[in-house]
Amino acid sequence: MRFDGLIGNSGVKKTLETPFHAYIIHGPKGSGKHTLERILTASLVCKSSEKPCGKCEQCKKFLSGNHVDISYIPTDIKVRELREKLKDVFYLPNEEYAFENS
Ligand SMILES: [Zn+2]
Repeated sequence: MRFDGLIGNSGVKKTLETPFHAYIIHGPKGSGKHTLERILTASLVCKSSEKPCGKCEQCKKFLSGNHVDISYIPTDIKVRELREKLKDVFYLPNEEYAFENS
């Protein structure tokens, strides 16, 4: 996984060499949480061998905020709104991804 733009955090980068089914990203303001979240998310949908490439169609859709298989959740979302969004997690993705067969 490529960590372009994520400065420092060598321990996090080493840990993420092994993929997990879920991540909790926690840390002080300015520690790279949002950057890491974007890298992880783009890596899941990227079709390139160097993930995330930032150039393939999937990466471009994600980076533009228009990827149909990704829910963009604001940090100030209300509990009721989040519960509504969680109803969508049971839908199958529109695209086929490598991790679905692993
Ligand atoms: Zn890509």
